[in-house]
Amino acid sequence: MSTFLDELNEAQRAPVLHKDGPLMVIAGAGSGKTRVLTYRIAHLMEQGVDSFNILALTFTNKAAREMKKRIADIVGNSEAKNLWMGTFHSVFAKLLRFDGDKLGFPSNFTIYDTQDSQRLIASIIREMGLDKDVYKYKQIQNRISSYKNSLITVKAYFNNPELVEADAMAKRPRTGEIYQEYVDRCFKAGAMDFDDLLLRTNELLNRFPEVLMKYQERFKYILVDEYQDTNHSQYLIVKALSDRYQNICVVGDDAQSIYSFRGANISNILNFQRDYNDVGVYRLEQNYRSTKNIVNAANSIISKNKNQLEKVVWTANEAGAAIKIHRSITDAEEGRFVAGSIFENKMQRQLPNGNFAVLYRTNSQSRAIEDALRKRDIPYRIYGGLSFYQRKEIKDVLSYLRLVVNPKDEEALKRVINFPARGIGQTTVDRLVVAANHYGRSIFEVMENLDKIDLKINAGTKNRLHDFVTMIKSFQIMNEGADAFVLAEHVAKKTGILLEFKKDGTPEGIARMENIEELLNGIKDFVEGQKELADATGDIGEFLEDVALATDLDKETGDEDRVALMTIHLAKGLEFPYVYIVGMEEDLFPSAMSMNTRSELEEERRLFYVALTRAEKEAYLTYTQNRYRWGKLIDAEPSRFLEEIDEQYVENLTPIENTYRYKSLIDTDIFGEVDKSRLRQTKPKNTNPPSIRKPNESQLRKLRKLKPQLAQPIGNGNTVDPNLAEGSLVNHTRFGRGKVLKIEGIGNDKKAEIKFEKGEVKKLLLRFAKLEVL
Ligand code: ATP
Ligand code: MG
Repeated sequence: MSTFLDELNEAQRAPVLHKDGPLMVIAGAGSGKTRVLTYRIAHLMEQGVDSFNILALTFTNKAAREMKKRIADIVGNSEAKNLWMGTFHSVFAKLLRFDGDKLGFPSNFTIYDTQDSQRLIASIIREMGLDKDVYKYKQIQNRISSYKNSLITVKAYFNNPELVEADAMAKRPRTGEIYQEYVDRCFKAGAMDFDDLLLRTNELLNRFPEVLMKYQERFKYILVDEYQDTNHSQYLIVKALSDRYQNICVVGDDAQSIYSFRGANISNILNFQRDYNDVGVYRLEQNYRSTKNIVNAANSIISKNKNQLEKVVWTANEAGAAIKIHRSITDAEEGRFVAGSIFENKMQRQLPNGNFAVLYRTNSQSRAIEDALRKRDIPYRIYGGLSFYQRKEIKDVLSYLRLVVNPKDEEALKRVINFPARGIGQTTVDRLVVAANHYGRSIFEVMENLDKIDLKINAGTKNRLHDFVTMIKSFQIMNEGADAFVLAEHVAKKTGILLEFKKDGTPEGIARMENIEELLNGIKDFVEGQKELADATGDIGEFLEDVALATDLDKETGDEDRVALMTIHLAKGLEFPYVYIVGMEEDLFPSAMSMNTRSELEEERRLFYVALTRAEKEAYLTYTQNRYRWGKLIDAEPSRFLEEIDEQYVENLTPIENTYRYKSLIDTDIFGEVDKSRLRQTKPKNTNPPSIRKPNESQLRKLRKLKPQLAQPIGNGNTVDPNLAEGSLVNHTRFGRGKVLKIEGIGNDKKAEIKFEKGEVKKLLLRFAKLEVL
């Protein structure tokens, strides 16, 4: 009888079948760690473990959803539904909704995003009368965040002379006070920031043994993916919860630890065997994701790191194409190369956009790529960066909704108390804040009791504040019966936000209105989806939680077919047939900020390993000789990582014509004398001809005007019959017979739209299409 266990190799089956007790799977990229985790859950359930007793922690909620789907295929949907699966943040937010009251938090607590935290810290700095150039709110927020992730509470901070002194030395002696005030204000607002979700969970489990016991009993089986990137706070939670039954399964790859800058601690994986008794350790060696060339190239890179566990990774997949390296002169040209190459691969092989990913070290690199993709009409989607839910108009609507659920929410209140404008000025808000601090109450509570306290606020303003309170309360009454969509639509109208943007009439205002519509559509979908779940109601509280905890990868809008653009950090765990890694230059990748110590450089190298191992079929590495950074044009040097790849797996793509281009540039006197013999070198090393001077601004302008160069054809260029016309009947080697509907484009870009007899309509690039005119 064939079972799902047959979809595993022997090495993978062992950890899946491992009986109770701790186990860890350490293995290289693409070897099936995530698959093992998924199948182990299904197997446990088949063996009779109650799905309520299983907890799985993943890197994104999307990964959790996909796993759940796979498990549902195996064991059935009704059982799979009960699994607790998701990111640390979303799982423990849920836990805190149940038991956070023991710490004094309401079950409807708000989750502050980074922007909310920063705004609150900025206003505390202002209220304390501190110099905002010395006390930079982003920096302070960062410090507070790292204290929390190391479990350094305010009290622990003040008890630690080293920390206090370090802040004093940095001329920010009042950092501790800001921290204290920030924590108090969040508490009063009934709000937790992202770090609190872990910190408070730890606090809860530490201080309340009966709560700890309840969850130890509940989560008899705990599984963690990407264990190499857990931070101290996460580590402690997992340790506490698994302490009783020790049924803990972690999978990870030390070579892919890339979040130490956020407090991830690689030693969590290295110490696992010390932390638990009788740990089953499993290794997987066979990679199923990538071609031999990619696997071997990745191995050759990671072997340069001194600090790593010995690992073998091999694959039975085909050798595949060499890894292609491309050099360009400007970042705009780099973008054009990438777009051109995606276009050709797509056309030649008839691939969907979703087969392609462009990965970069920093978000700012996306712009040049976006420009080029747009020019080619290739749809793309950027992951990360400013998300939909952080747009101004969306946050405005969400802030009203947050107030409905939790009127104490200070940041939401400050955001919308005077938007749309209703004559409540900053001075009034400042006075409310002072009063709230004085009485130890929330701003909203002060507003509810204006008659009882003596505030220097005139009668007209008092009336307006009163109206605002009444409006929010009316929404709260509505919320008791309505689902999230009905409420949100009502709020968008009633508050006047929709009208405000409509009145505006500018294209920007219209776009904002459309975004709000999009938000409402999203809420509607959400409500529909929740109806299918056993323990959900579809109310606004659930929606807000979903939004607050969606990771950058989760914000999928529909299932349109798009090229994916994202930072390498975000690409962890994912796979794409074709991967372009751009900006392979010194100081960019490896980043200039991460070259001070060996361990920083090794983390950059691991990041490169992660990037390359996302590719299934082909990988392209591109770099440019000139790049705009911080508004200045700089000379860029090829990344050292390019030289570190064993050269037998690499092919230098930089077309010979580029050499001629240098020549033609020389003719137009853009560069000085060139040693032409150097120009023919194709290795990335020495690609900067030594006597080329850096172009000045006007030369660059000329350069940019140069026609974009078409990338080299990838396949054997195929001549097309000149008789081809609209209406022609044709035969295609793969798709069979068909009729030409339309011909468009000229020269190399000439395409034909063909309806094939099998029913498909395809657009083929004639340069490649193997067509025969009948
Ligand atoms: P990463 O380190 O990047 O997170 P991973 O070790 O988690 O990788 P998976 O994502 O689980 O690896 O697997 C990589 C790919 O190989 C997936 O597409 C998976 O479906 C496939 N795969 C894994 N094991 C097998 C197998 N035994 N047979 C067929 N395909 C497999
Ligand atoms: Mg994985």
